[in-house]
Amino acid sequence: MNKKINLTCPSCKKIVEIDSKFKPFCSKACKSIDFLRWANEEVGIETFEDQDND
Ligand SMILES: [Zn+2]
Repeated sequence: MNKKINLTCPSCKKIVEIDSKFKPFCSKACKSIDFLRWANEEVGIETFEDQDND
């Protein structure tokens, strides 16, 4: 059994190398881009008020 999975980078849609350190991303840059996008969306919701802020 030799299953080849073509993983595509969620950020730039390029094929990700099977032994990429940044899976599921193709590179550190794409990983950061996606993280930032995600973080921005999270921040946009502004749900920090549940934290204990005095
Ligand atoms: Zn990428």
